[in-house]
Amino acid sequence: MKKKILVTGGAGYIGSHTCKALAQAGFDPVVFDNLSAGNEWAVKWGALVKGDLLNEDDLAQAFAQHKPEAVIHFAACAYVGESVDEPEKYYRNNLHGSLNLLSAMRAANCHKIVFSSTCAIFGEPDGLPISEDLPKNPINPYGRTKLAMEGMLEDFDHAYGLKYVALRYFNAAGADPDGEIGEDHDPETHLIPIAIETAMGRRDQMQVFGDDYPTKDGSNVRDYVHVTDLASAHLLALQSLLEGNESDVFNLGNGTGVSVKELIQTVKEVSGRDFPVTIAPRRPGDPAALVAVSTKSREQLGWEPKSSGIQQIVQTAWDWHRGHNSG
Ligand code: UDP
Repeated sequence: MKKKILVTGGAGYIGSHTCKALAQAGFDPVVFDNLSAGNEWAVKWGALVKGDLLNEDDLAQAFAQHKPEAVIHFAACAYVGESVDEPEKYYRNNLHGSLNLLSAMRAANCHKIVFSSTCAIFGEPDGLPISEDLPKNPINPYGRTKLAMEGMLEDFDHAYGLKYVALRYFNAAGADPDGEIGEDHDPETHLIPIAIETAMGRRDQMQVFGDDYPTKDGSNVRDYVHVTDLASAHLLALQSLLEGNESDVFNLGNGTGVSVKELIQTVKEVSGRDFPVTIAPRRPGDPAALVAVSTKSREQLGWEPKSSGIQQIVQTAWDWHRGHNSG
């Protein structure tokens, strides 16, 4: 029988791509999602349990019914800007929700979890690129909730033997090359989909949030990682836990910094369309530059990103948006 893996937030962007990778590797992904941000159409590779992490009964029932071997935990609020305006929502959903999940796992004797962490735990790093052991000083509530969650996992390992892998993603981007799933948030706040929607004429113009940062062209620099490469990292992390390895943390990026302005230029090139771009004030909570060292994940997990060029990443996103929102 295929091993069942409970995937919280499996109807979301990175979650759905990971479910596809799990199914292709012979696992049976069971999605646990309240569909507040996820899409039902993106659940294609296993059962969907409509449930909420804030509801302990929903969780207990999902574990009792499916008896998963392990959990991959994506479900969380994940907008930096929103977290600054609505911290209560972030602490409640991300921390309280995650604590409920860990309690349900203990009660069900499920002791392995892969956790979606983030480069936002590093805040404004002292130096670049960012290795796993740099100081963690998050500068927004989103990053603080994720860092607290990493601490919770460490404490649960120490006290109860829970084994975890925390994967700190840099900026997830791109879409399934087969065109089955892609990035679809409502409302959309992320840079690449917004640039694509503008190229498609669905928005009149777009904004660069700040061009007075101490970076190569003044705009924010980020490390964009293809979502299918993130999915493969989850699979490797899960396999490592199932083989009995110890808990660990990994940064997941390509090690290349791309500025907001460069990204917008790439979308213009890939789409072959020009569009108006204005400079707006900085977005609260944004560090100037975030670029990963991901040697550890390559060496220890055997992770090999396959779509590391920004042109290629944007191309898959463009192809998917064209197919999904023909325009
Ligand atoms: N950004 C921007 N204009 C937009 C959306 C985003 O300039 O309309 C910038 C944002 O300030 C950040 C980068 O693009 O520096 C990536 O933001 P996104 O929201 O995609 O991901 P995040 O880094 O918040 O996870």
